[in-house]
Amino acid sequence: MKKTPIQLLYDKIPSFRCKEGCVRCCDNWIQFAPEEELRCGGFDFTGEICPKLGNAGCTVYENRPLICRLFASSELMPCPYGYGPKTPLSEEETKSILKEYLKLRKEQEEQYGKVGK
Ligand code: SF4
Ligand code: SF4
Repeated sequence: MKKTPIQLLYDKIPSFRCKEGCVRCCDNWIQFAPEEELRCGGFDFTGEICPKLGNAGCTVYENRPLICRLFASSELMPCPYGYGPKTPLSEEETKSILKEYLKLRKEQEEQYGKVGK
């Protein structure tokens, strides 16, 4: 299936393996675009921890939102345990991805309305 402009932004983010069993970055309220929420089946936040976090980690890993992909993959959001890709995104690259992402997200929110909280 053809990738959306937001999924094409995912391709610009280098991936890496987290520390075994660590879910520290999921202990957060996260932000997502309407299309990301739909792909993940909704984000019904009731507390401080992401509702997509299961016992074995992220239950929507393949579809996780852009912000989850940026944690530790950008020099602006370093992992406290030193994990991350060999070459994280620079500040400039990160800002460019976020700028494009926020533009697309705003367009979707204007078109479809905010899907979640
Ligand atoms: S980036 Fe670091 S702190 Fe975040 S989940 Fe991975 S290992 Fe844990
Ligand atoms: S969507 Fe997955 S990776 Fe992102 S915060 Fe939730 S559980 Fe963590």
